[in-house]
Amino acid sequence: STMLEVNGLNHSYGEHVVAKDLNFTVESGQLACIVGPSGCGKSTLLRCIAGLLKPTGGQVSLHGDRVTGVPEDLAVVFQDYSRSLFPWLSVRSNVEFPLRWRDMSKADRRERAAEALAAVGLDGVGSKFPWQLSGGMQQRVSIARALASRPALLLMDEPFASVDAQTRFELEDLLRRVQREQGSTVLLVTHDIDESVYLGDRVLVLSKSPASIVADLAVDLPAD
Ligand code: ADP
Ligand code: ADP
Repeated sequence: STMLEVNGLNHSYGEHVVAKDLNFTVESGQLACIVGPSGCGKSTLLRCIAGLLKPTGGQVSLHGDRVTGVPEDLAVVFQDYSRSLFPWLSVRSNVEFPLRWRDMSKADRRERAAEALAAVGLDGVGSKFPWQLSGGMQQRVSIARALASRPALLLMDEPFASVDAQTRFELEDLLRRVQREQGSTVLLVTHDIDESVYLGDRVLVLSKSPASIVADLAVDLPAD
């Protein structure tokens, strides 16, 4: 079934046209990558999908419902992990944080957080604080927090662009594995074509600004 539908999406910042008539859908269970040069409008597109920015024109629907604010069953992982975690909360509390508004017992929240931390290979660090962890580990915590809410759609904006190459490879493999195990629907934007082909079941290629889709590729590489 269709999870995300982007219909005739346009966005301008004043006179500056950033996205022009974007149309695409993402099916449930897909890991779709959007790749395009820096400044072409990827973050703008993602923010429109996340309900953080109102597009100038067109519409976004999440499992058939038009997105008008920040949808509850959507999670976003940003590039800048250093600003996305609350420094005064433990790792465990950071991961539990979005669950506070759910109708869940404290014990259930705690269990959900522990599962998500285990899924990203962070058992045993729950009581530490973000600043006690390396950048790569902080980004793992951000991913765990996104997974803990079991979002219908996980949006990722250059999630591995600020970690070192070794950590990036580890996190890419982790994302692939968790996405397959959990059947999650992921839309990831990156400027790195290699990353998009390595990770995506599908790669949407954007032109330079104003962004339009110039290719929509199914990636079906043999397993090694
Ligand atoms: P990308 O994520 O592909 O690097 P962005 O969506 O961040 O692209 O930006 C696309 C263009 O829009 C860039 O030229 C950027 O400078 C501009 N832009 C982004 N955010 C704003 C904003 N809040 N106000 C004005 N211009 C912006
Ligand atoms: P990215 O390429 O990862 O989107 P940027 O450095 O382009 O990162 O943007 C960082 C932040 O600055 C974003 O919130 C973006 O909206 C904002 N921004 C980018 N370009 C402009 C601009 N020309 N005017 C105002 N805000 C901007």
